[in-house]
Amino acid sequence: MKIGILALQGSYLDHQRYFNQLGVETVLIKEPYQLKDIDGLVLPGGESTTMRRLIDRYHFMDDLKEICETKPVFGTCAGMILLAKEVVDNPTHIGVLDVKVKRNAFGRQVDSFEEKILVDEIGEVEGVYIRAPYIEKVGETVKVLGIHRDVIVAVRQGNVLATSFHPEITDDTKIGKYFINMVDNTINKA
Ligand code: GLN
Repeated sequence: MKIGILALQGSYLDHQRYFNQLGVETVLIKEPYQLKDIDGLVLPGGESTTMRRLIDRYHFMDDLKEICETKPVFGTCAGMILLAKEVVDNPTHIGVLDVKVKRNAFGRQVDSFEEKILVDEIGEVEGVYIRAPYIEKVGETVKVLGIHRDVIVAVRQGNVLATSFHPEITDDTKIGKYFINMVDNTINKA
């Protein structure tokens, strides 16, 4: 199994460390052709507007859309924003996850926090929120996995998993294992 981590901007090195410690081979994706050779993709946290600029500059969008429609994808924070079909007061990016997200919805950088959250199918996990988005609305086929402070912060829609928070900068590996399992299941089905 090989998990690709989009490495244009943001916390991609944390994701690499996080998945490597779980014994999975990872590859940092810096060019679109590298997407052809992976079993699952991680879209890290960072700054979604900057990532979008780089996605356009390096002509990633078509290949990203294709992989997000066909392989397991995990978006954290800015990654979740990139996946959303609707972003409040902002353009849509990849647009494969049927949710409406609000950027920086928990406040500014100084309002960052770490709190435990109970995630359906996964259990209690440690979540770090850094200028995190939350989900205002979900489509019918989206499963809400986690609610925190009365708002939606974790969802799954088929092959797409997304969280408002960053598991990759904690020692809590439960979400990583859950995603690896998603990837495993698609490999076994193929
Ligand atoms: N606020 C950032 C954005 O809109 C996301 C923050 C994060 O990924 N930690 O892209």
